Amino acid sequence: MVKADDRVVHALKSKLNRESKWKRKKNKFGSVRWNKNYELATKQAPSPDKWTSIKQTVKNLVTDNRLNFWREYIKPLVQQGNFLKIIELENLDLTWRSIIYDLPRGVLSFAVRSAIDFLPTFSNLRTWGKRVQTGCKLCGNHETLLHALNNCPLSLNQGRYTWRHNSILKHTLKALTGHENNNILIFSNISGFTTTGGTLPVNVIVSKLKPDIVIQNKQDNSIHLVELTVPFETNISKAHERKQTKYLDLVSDISDNGFTCDLTCFEVGSRGLITQENVGRIVEIFYFVGRAKPSKKFMKQLSKMALLSSYTIWNARQEPAWGSEDQPHISL
Ligand SMILES: [Zn+2]
Repeated sequence: MVKADDRVVHALKSKLNRESKWKRKKNKFGSVRWNKNYELATKQAPSPDKWTSIKQTVKNLVTDNRLNFWREYIKPLVQQGNFLKIIELENLDLTWRSIIYDLPRGVLSFAVRSAIDFLPTFSNLRTWGKRVQTGCKLCGNHETLLHALNNCPLSLNQGRYTWRHNSILKHTLKALTGHENNNILIFSNISGFTTTGGTLPVNVIVSKLKPDIVIQNKQDNSIHLVELTVPFETNISKAHERKQTKYLDLVSDISDNGFTCDLTCFEVGSRGLITQENVGRIVEIFYFVGRAKPSKKFMKQLSKMALLSSYTIWNARQEPAWGSEDQPHISL
């Protein structure tokens, strides 16, 4: 911490002040059930003038020369600030930036703070001298942003991450289906899309594996396996490789059964980032069902859905109960 610099002291003071406001707000929400969070996440955005100042802050943060100020003074305080780095390096923030300006109240703050790891996670609160214990309220492990949004074993077991994953999967299925010709069959482990073998038709292969989407083209005898992952932004490449490896044998087994088989793994970051590579993969999946490439609106919706779901997961991170598996998914 560079205490000598007045600007830093000022920035920190106002930041901590904002944090405590955020915390009070969060505690108020802490007593309500997850569906209250859901309601909150799906509320309409406030009138633009109300958010002018916060929008300006965001704009300054991600676009102009204030980045230098942040890089030099604030970034050392940030534990996992790599998301901003990714944005800078790949210039991928166009979709992300365009959606955050249209987010409901509260989610905008979450989007920006999660992107730079400035949310009051227990580990950040300890760094800021506000808390000593960093154990996750659900599982007891060290609570970082990565932990809360993607790595908490209890959240995983309760289906919190699956809920987010399936929101995005359902939305993708909705966009892929409805216009395909009779030769195209689309299966998934989502109700309404299952087949006798689960996700994989038994006349193609019998397997315990359940790729998220299976597209069968009867005309050219091809099988396209599609797998979605919603990893923490800094783990996108790793998640991709892991899934590619997981389904490698299945692809070759299906090929051995006489089909042309390929695999497309795509990732939507848990904070809403869709990298250029993944935009390409999503275009490819649309091509498999004979559709034109997805609209920009669709890409934005995927991104927004990840953010809104993660916002709900974040708000519920201190609530032991999560609810049933069939709770409504985020829909836009
Ligand atoms: Zn945990």
